[in-house]
Amino acid sequence: MVPETGGSQSKRVGLGLLLVLVVAGLAVLIVFFAFVRHWAAVHTGTLNESGPYYGFWSGFGSDLGEATLITAVGIGVYTGVRKVNCHTKGCWRISHHALEGTPYHLCRHHHPDVPTKGASHEQILEQHRKYLEAQ
Ligand SMILES: [Zn+2]
Repeated sequence: MVPETGGSQSKRVGLGLLLVLVVAGLAVLIVFFAFVRHWAAVHTGTLNESGPYYGFWSGFGSDLGEATLITAVGIGVYTGVRKVNCHTKGCWRISHHALEGTPYHLCRHHHPDVPTKGASHEQILEQHRKYLEAQ
């Protein structure tokens, strides 16, 4: 284990390390099960009628597509969420509103000019009229 120095940064690193260890452990487990299944296939004679890679493709190899799919979907969802979420740190709301004069996109909650409560039709028309007058 990596020695921890304390503080939230090392806690975050520790969490990341734990995640990596869990993923690595799962991978080892999957490969180990594939090995056991392959060994069983060889010793029960189910392997003899097919090619030498039958054990692989019926074992872990058959899960490759699934593993790839899960990884791709996970990365896609993560990237999508990172791209569309509010630029305020720690905010996971969808950012619908660009803040003029900055490169940031913000959610309704964090944007200074977007009302957080609903408006009546009259209020909306009033704002539109003010905008047209200012033009
Ligand atoms: Zn936000």
